[in-house]
Amino acid sequence: MTLRVGLFGGTFDPVHFGHLRAAEELAIHLKLTEILFIPAALHPHKMINGPIDFKHRLAMLKLAISDRPGFSVTDIEASLPKPSYTVNTVAALKKTIKGDLIFLVGYDSFRHIQKWTHYRELLALTPTAVFRRPGTAGGLTALQTVLVKALEETPVWDDKLGAFQLKNSQPIHYYEGCQLSISSTDLRARLAAGDSVRYLLPEKVRAYLVRRSLYSPQQLRS
Ligand code: ATP
Repeated sequence: MTLRVGLFGGTFDPVHFGHLRAAEELAIHLKLTEILFIPAALHPHKMINGPIDFKHRLAMLKLAISDRPGFSVTDIEASLPKPSYTVNTVAALKKTIKGDLIFLVGYDSFRHIQKWTHYRELLALTPTAVFRRPGTAGGLTALQTVLVKALEETPVWDDKLGAFQLKNSQPIHYYEGCQLSISSTDLRARLAAGDSVRYLLPEKVRAYLVRRSLYSPQQLRS
């Protein structure tokens, strides 16, 4: 059987059920055999007031997916040149993973694709699946407008494939279904205020961050 591997990048500061449920739904929708979570070592767009230490975000991700066969985590961005641009990460993974890769990204990030370093090369490397995060803008027409601006061509929607076909890029899938309106920003604010985050993220992750007082006022960097 050919592996179909979804690449789910993000800051995961911290990982929560919104990320995990989105991954689960995308795995089903795109018939993925595996999802590889890729915590950003240093997010090029988030260098001011940066995320907590990579080792903690990596450890929390490992705990979060430990009981889900087919989900795994890579620390590849720790060893790649900084800042870690997605195009470099995907290119490096493409060399090592045997199987079909699909890059997974929320529309809230993808709509700024033109600001990403070497985005054309990134979109030509693997198919992409853009998904809508609850409570945020999105929709097929909005995605089409982003693609027209970024790639200077009119994408053609292929209903059978569930994706836009383009000359200058691999297919761009679109998925609307994510329902859990949870955000890392909100979780960090709750933790800083000493509020409960129970049932918003896996209990093992909650225990990990509470035990170490991560995101408590003394630990926050801004
Ligand atoms: P925040 O959660 O604070 O907005 P973020 O969006 O930067 O932070 P990341 O950890 O970088 O969070 O997110 C990784 C990916 O997961 C992004 O593509 C984002 O769109 C998606 N995502 C985050 N939260 C959800 C959610 N609740 N439902 C669906 N997708 C989500």
